Amino acid sequence: MFRTDTATDAELAARRDELVARLPGCAAHTPGSLHRNYRRCGKPNCRCAQDGDPGHGPRHVLVRYEAGKPRTVQVPAEMAPEVADGVAAYREFNDLVAEIAAVNSELSDRKLRRAASPKAAARGKKGGSAAGGAAPARPPAPFGRRSPGI
Ligand SMILES: [Zn+2]
Repeated sequence: MFRTDTATDAELAARRDELVARLPGCAAHTPGSLHRNYRRCGKPNCRCAQDGDPGHGPRHVLVRYEAGKPRTVQVPAEMAPEVADGVAAYREFNDLVAEIAAVNSELSDRKLRRAASPKAAARGKKGGSAAGGAAPARPPAPFGRRSPGI
């Protein structure tokens, strides 16, 4: 697992460029998650009423949250592989974007810290825990938050 906190600036930049190069194209992206459902029809004499029967199906559905509410779309069985690929591509894209953001956040933080106190940065080149006494108090975050991480 790549660690942003211990990597050098050059390693962070290289990692970021590697992640950007891996971003898949967006054309096939399908937001949502694909599920396979089995259901019971409720008829007491149907096979699905027997113990151990999985029920009717599978029925494929694509679930997507829009404005916080789940929306379900039926997916014909023959289209399920294509939709699954699109869902996976979109997920991979988002995972990569989140990782790129984490690397860029670390790079940006370091750059800003160095700019804010160039002397401390020069002095504390080796130590990881800048306990040199001149460490600035941790400011509140009025302009946005750190990425929650991955
Ligand atoms: Zn049934």
